[in-house]
Amino acid sequence: MALIELKNINKRYDDGFVALKNINLKIESGKFYSLLGPSGSGKSTILRIIAGFSQPTEGEVLLDGKNITDMDPAKRPVNTVFQNYALFPHLNVFENVAFGLKIKKEAMSKIKPAVKTALKMVRLDGYANREISELSGGQQQRVAIARAIVNEPKVLLLDESLSALDKRLRKEMQFELRAMQKKLGITFIFVTHDQEEALSMSDEIFVLNDGKIQQNGTPMDIYDEPINDFVARFIGDSNILPGRMIKDYEVEFAGKKFECADAGIKINEKVEVVIRPEDLDITSPEKGKLVVTSLSQLFLGDHFEIKAVDMDENEWLIQSTNGVKIGKRIGLYFDPEDIHVMRLHESQAEFDARLESYEGGED
Ligand code: ADP
Ligand code: MG
Repeated sequence: MALIELKNINKRYDDGFVALKNINLKIESGKFYSLLGPSGSGKSTILRIIAGFSQPTEGEVLLDGKNITDMDPAKRPVNTVFQNYALFPHLNVFENVAFGLKIKKEAMSKIKPAVKTALKMVRLDGYANREISELSGGQQQRVAIARAIVNEPKVLLLDESLSALDKRLRKEMQFELRAMQKKLGITFIFVTHDQEEALSMSDEIFVLNDGKIQQNGTPMDIYDEPINDFVARFIGDSNILPGRMIKDYEVEFAGKKFECADAGIKINEKVEVVIRPEDLDITSPEKGKLVVTSLSQLFLGDHFEIKAVDMDENEWLIQSTNGVKIGKRIGLYFDPEDIHVMRLHESQAEFDARLESYEGGED
């Protein structure tokens, strides 16, 4: 059974704005999840509904299968680390971390060791008596996490918790958060608009746009098999070309027909074809499946990023360990599996239905 489940959640704010549209998701215990999407896509609204700070207009929140939609936030086994940390500036590190336990009127004999353990977990042992203003951004971030884990929640919600940090510290904290999650063994639900961050940290990602879950799966699933053009564009630099399905396992784009790995799409249906820059190999025009002309190249330390154009005037982005001469005709080679055919604006539910009907042989 899922630890937390959101069932058919809709959220309409008082001004009439619909921020969430039929959200269904399952959270298992002990995993690292990310909610990934652009600003305004509904990520924070989902966290607030899980935490109980906000009520869904429709739908249910389940905890271990029990309906907790109306449960008081303080009673839920869930804690939130906010983007701005929300630390108390006039309290020191110990008092900040101990705050929730004191409110609950726990005995000092219990609070002290709990705070000590939490501070050790975030590598701040020895900082108990420091003032918040004396700490760096990364240290403040850790205090906020210590405060959230001190009463041993089952789920930690982190809302854009690293976005205030500079790039280097952010990388370090990404690694630390992941390590901390493994060590604590509790579930993290991490909100971010940064695709690289979500891809590198998560067991599972929910990609959101416009109040809807566009796709969920492992980072590999989402990177390799984006199910619509939104996910493909959002997840990384990709070549996205207009195309047409010829028949099962054959698609046309850039003025040619190619063998592909996709089936179950209507003949002649207009599609978009995605090919990742790193899946393209440069070869001679004779050996290539497609001939393009190189326009520019950039050396990025360990590979070149080459821009090229085909006869249909589609632009191509290619990543290669070898450079090319500019203005030269080059061949591009790719395997059928490197071609990802997407139906236009297909949702996860439609994709699942298509897969099911296809596997059921109803096609
Ligand atoms: P995200 O965290 O992905 O940036 P939010 O969940 O904060 O997005 O917000 C989703 C949408 O709901 C946004 O368009 C936002 O403007 C709107 N929204 C958030 N809070 C409220 C509110 N209290 N009243 C009206 N609209 C809101
Ligand atoms: Mg937000």
